[in-house]
Amino acid sequence: MNFLESFEEFYESAVKHLDIPKGLADQIKSCDSVYHLRFPITLDNGEIEVIDAWHGEHSHHRSPLKGGIRFSGLVNEDEVKVLASLMTFKCALVNVPFGGGKGGIKIDSKNYSKNELEKITRRYTFELYSRNSLGPNTYVPATDYGTTSREMNWIYSTFKTLSNSNIDAAASVTSKSVTQEGVSGRSEATGRGVYIGIRELLNDEREISRVGLKKGIKDKEIIIQGFGNVGYHAALFLHQAGAKIVGVCEFNGSIYRKEGIDPIKLKEWLNSGNMIFDYKDCETSKDPWDSFYKECDILIPAALEEVINATNKYKIKAKIIAEGANGPITFEADKYLENNNVIILPDLYLNSGGVIVSYFEWLKNLNHVRWGRIENQGNNQLKEIDLINNALNETMCKAFEELSEKRNSTGKYISYRKAAYRLGIEKIANTYIEMGLFP
Ligand code: NAD
Repeated sequence: MNFLESFEEFYESAVKHLDIPKGLADQIKSCDSVYHLRFPITLDNGEIEVIDAWHGEHSHHRSPLKGGIRFSGLVNEDEVKVLASLMTFKCALVNVPFGGGKGGIKIDSKNYSKNELEKITRRYTFELYSRNSLGPNTYVPATDYGTTSREMNWIYSTFKTLSNSNIDAAASVTSKSVTQEGVSGRSEATGRGVYIGIRELLNDEREISRVGLKKGIKDKEIIIQGFGNVGYHAALFLHQAGAKIVGVCEFNGSIYRKEGIDPIKLKEWLNSGNMIFDYKDCETSKDPWDSFYKECDILIPAALEEVINATNKYKIKAKIIAEGANGPITFEADKYLENNNVIILPDLYLNSGGVIVSYFEWLKNLNHVRWGRIENQGNNQLKEIDLINNALNETMCKAFEELSEKRNSTGKYISYRKAAYRLGIEKIANTYIEMGLFP
């Protein structure tokens, strides 16, 4: 089963429990449109290379569409379709009024200079703009695997130029730097959301006693795969709340330390150009999977999709899997793990912190005023970062409550993933019906 088939199985197994007309269920299932783009760029050595890229628009039941742009050598059309679909369900689930979209450029950023990456990003922006597929009211991208605020700033400046300085140009892309009309707290938002979701689960004594865990974050042993934007920030907030990050896996190796690893020190080590497998005072390995299969309370895949699948599902020794990445567990593996009493916090809910704060950034850009500036009177100075973090916390806690209610709505507990799909699909179906597009 490939990534698309796996996603379709998740969808079908949810929709069969819902009272939705078949035609509407078919409409919600697949992408409205997908572009395969090919464009040339001149490399630093003077050679010309043709770049493959995709742009997927899953659902226009709400506008604009939202979803990150990914740079990865593994990008393909099916992947973009699935990731765009997940965005639609995620936004519906956490009550963010966007449809789902996604962009992918098939490059490994490590193989290109900054100058070349800038050319690729600006050209991709032009390709989307010229097809009316980018803008504050059409598709608003953000960061994803392999991209950072740097690329988002390039998209913003290109859009602004092409649109003759459209007054709302800043709202054409989110996850920008704060100096480029971004919002405080966006870069760490997805990782913070992962932390909030895990914290909420660990406060549910009834649920976690099922896997033999005690209430609260303190001393929980956590292994993280992928120490990039999502993985690092999740590690940081969990560590600050008293959890122990016992294992970290990267693309070229993994480390383990029962007493815990300080995420800030590890990040500094990696940012200084060192390799993870040379990190001190830990069990180290050049095999990225060594720590992945060790015993722990919580495993957080935060790199790529399908990392837990039919071939390795037996090796997982975690009590809880918290999906920082999109689609890290295949349909078959999900079934197996559920039957083996593993609690899974699904991507649709758990990594929604990024799009939630992107929504706030988009609103800020359309309002042309920093959060808190107008509300601040007298001594009661509200900082943008506090407003954003509180609003993120509130949104994710509310969504967790809705999810928990849905799990038990039939009197028999279903998994968080099943509840997330059912809730997301129902909300989208209702929007379609209320719009009058379907009887
Ligand atoms: P990133 O590029 O910042 O980090 C990914 C990290 O994973 C990198 O450090 C990379 O070296 C590492 N990695 C790659 N292959 C690996 C392997 N085989 N084993 C272990 N590590 C490996 O990307 P990110 O933004 O953190 O995104 C990670 C995941 O989270 C993706 O699935 C993405 O779609 C999802 N996500 C990201 C955001 C966001 O705001 N950035 C929001 C929602 C979901």
